[in-house]
Amino acid sequence: MKSTSSSSHRTRHVPQRTCLGCRQIKAKRELIRIVNTPGGNLEVDITGKKAGRGTYLCPILECWEAGLKGNRLDYALRTSFNQESRQQLMQYAEEHLRGAASGPGKKTG
Ligand SMILES: [Zn+2]
Repeated sequence: MKSTSSSSHRTRHVPQRTCLGCRQIKAKRELIRIVNTPGGNLEVDITGKKAGRGTYLCPILECWEAGLKGNRLDYALRTSFNQESRQQLMQYAEEHLRGAASGPGKKTG
């Protein structure tokens, strides 16, 4: 019998962030960054390299709805956003994150 006591665990350092919507901690690369630009707009930061204070959301429509609702986003980014900025993000979410969701199409406006 052999007893191997040399086990080298290589822990890779994976940056993690909390999703604003579901509050789950996930790998940063699995999340989408929302950044507060110097102009005070909310932008989706695909590269994750834009300057500004950012927060993270899962690529799941539900998380965006939860995160953009109320004042969570304002709290996370320490500012207040107008409805327009929020709607732009929701529009992005609905265009890019909507899966095969079956149901009645919501119409806003
Ligand atoms: Zn989430």
